[in-house]
Parts: sequence; structure tokens; C-alpha cells
Amino acid sequence: MTRPRLRSALRLAILLLLATARTAPAQAPHHTRNVVLIVSDGLRWQEIFEGADSQLMNRKFGHVEDTAALRREFSRDDASSARAALFPFIWNVVAKQGEIFGNRTMQSDADVTNGFKFSYPGYNEMISGHPDPRIDSNNAGPNPNLTVFEWLDKRPGFTGRVAVFGTWNEFADIFNRGRSQLPIWAAFDAPPTASPPTARDSLLVNLYGTTTRLWSDLAYDSFMQAEVREYIARAHPRVMFVGYGETDEWAHMGRYDMVLKSAHQFDQFVGDLWNAMQRMPQYRDSTTFIITADHGRGSGLTAWSDHGADVAGAEAIWIAVIGPDTPASGERMHVSRVTQSQIAATIASLLGENYSAAVPAAAPPLPVR
Ligand SMILES: [Zn+2]
Repeated sequence: MTRPRLRSALRLAILLLLATARTAPAQAPHHTRNVVLIVSDGLRWQEIFEGADSQLMNRKFGHVEDTAALRREFSRDDASSARAALFPFIWNVVAKQGEIFGNRTMQSDADVTNGFKFSYPGYNEMISGHPDPRIDSNNAGPNPNLTVFEWLDKRPGFTGRVAVFGTWNEFADIFNRGRSQLPIWAAFDAPPTASPPTARDSLLVNLYGTTTRLWSDLAYDSFMQAEVREYIARAHPRVMFVGYGETDEWAHMGRYDMVLKSAHQFDQFVGDLWNAMQRMPQYRDSTTFIITADHGRGSGLTAWSDHGADVAGAEAIWIAVIGPDTPASGERMHVSRVTQSQIAATIASLLGENYSAAVPAAAPPLPVR
């Protein structure tokens, strides 16, 4: 080897060393070994932080069937009691042991940055880490972007331990089932079963197949909940997406009573998942939940049911985090704005992985460690 050659080889070796040092994750020690990203489609920050809106709990603006019963269940004298009545798990557990962003009345903004303010652009933003102007429709086809779920599934220790459940059929495209090869159960896909199927499996398959569908492209949250519970107990995934959809559909139908009931049920589903996982040694004290919405909605007496680029305020969301690495900072106030695009890198960072190095366009992790 001639001297110039030796010098350039040395230089290359040093450059390589430097590059490795720069991309190696400089992470603080972490306890999170599992992450679940949980979404309630189009669930507003207004209900999360202020509870049920008394102006909408009526026939005129909320198409409420039984106003007295609804008010008994969810009306309270002040916002903090009202929100705890609607979301007992979020306010009594998540907001006490973890933190929650998005109360705009307390100078805590959590925003969608894609500008479209509807579902596919929002889900893409949260799982790829960046908005994409090409995704301008809910039928945009297979997602051209790498997602943190697909990326993690290729990382050592995570392969085959990533799973996606969602009540909406578009999740197959949003997570790009064809390219990612992730196990995805979307809408009315036949649920995963043991072999041979257990009695519970068979009952669930039967319910999915025989229940009259209210929405053609969206299955029921309760069915998915049962499916997810069975899957977790059997397969022990380390990274999971769980997408509930009823809150958005009921809002589009103008049914404020059903929005509140499905939102309350969503809270119970999340609590049920949390408690079930904490009882399992694989998950106890080593699991973080990130809980959020894909977009906000309008406000006032009519725009509450709608969302989209032309609906003021529909960029406003909320993001809650609970887990062994997240301080019990509770309801965040007077803090810098956080964005939906930060969720992807947050998932990786909690697991000690550096998604931002692989996808430089991804927004940095949320300040939740
Ligand atoms: Zn919608």
C-alpha cells in the first residue's frame, strides 16, 4: 500500500468512526421495553380538558335522545369534575402518573401540522414523523413513507413483535401492509386466532361476521378491544398501534350523546388495557402508553361535528403519555407547542432507538422523558 493510499484509508477509517459516533443513540437509561400508541379518532381536546359541553347536551345542537340521562351521567358543576366523570382513567391515572399536553386555555398547544386536519394525513404524520402533502385524501393508497412501526420491526429485538389494530379499513394502507409486511388487523378483517381457535376466538369471529354494520368501513371499538386483549395475552407484542374510531363517526352524525358515550367507553378501554398489561410480567413497569387523536374538530354549536382544512381549530389535538420513563408532570401548562409529528420519534426514543437518525425529516421526540 503506498503512503497516499494508506493516508486515505486512515482518513476513511476516522470518518467512519466519527459517523458511527454521531449516529449512535446517545440516550439516557430507559425502562420502557414496550410502547402502545393509542388513538381515539377525532376526539376533541375540548372534551378531554373541559368535559361534556352543556351547550351540546340537548336535542337541538347535539341530537341527544335522552337529555336528562346524559346530563346525569356527564354534567358536573366545574370543568375538573366534568372531565374526570367523562375520562376517569385519563384524569385519575394518566394525568397523575404521567403527563398530558393540549389544554389551550392553559397555554399548552398540541397541533397537527399537515394542514388537512383529517384522518389519513394525521395518522401518516404521527407514525412517519412528518406531514406529507401527497397524502391529501383518506383514499390516498399505500403510504409512500416509512413509518416508525415498520422501521422498528426491522430492528433487533423488535422483529415480529410489532402489531397494528384499528377499526378503520384504511389502516391497511396507512401502515402499507404490502411493503411493511406488518401484521395489521383493520376494520372487519377476521381477527387473529390461536390454532386451534379458542372458544373466545370463535365467538369473536362469529360476532365480526354476523353483526349488522352501522358503518361499511369501520368496525366496533368493543370487538377490537376483545381482539387486542386476546392478542396481547398470546403474542406479547412490544410495539403496538391501537386505533379506536367511533368517536369520529358519531360526531359526523351529529350525535353528541353517542360521542360522549363512545369517548367514555374509550377511556375505559384504555384503562382496561393498561391494567391488563400491568398484571403481566412482560409489561409490568416497562410499558409506555401514548394516547392521542388524529385531528381535532371545530367548536361552537354546529362546527363541533366537523373537521378539515377549512374548519378553524381542527388542528388542535391532545397528547397524553404514561410509563416508567415519563415524569408525573400531570397537566402541562405554559409550555412550548408540541406537534403530532413528534410522536414517531418519541416511540423510538422511549425504546432506546434513534428514529431521527434514520428519518431526518421526522420531528424530534416529545419532552416526555
Ligand atoms: Zn372524520
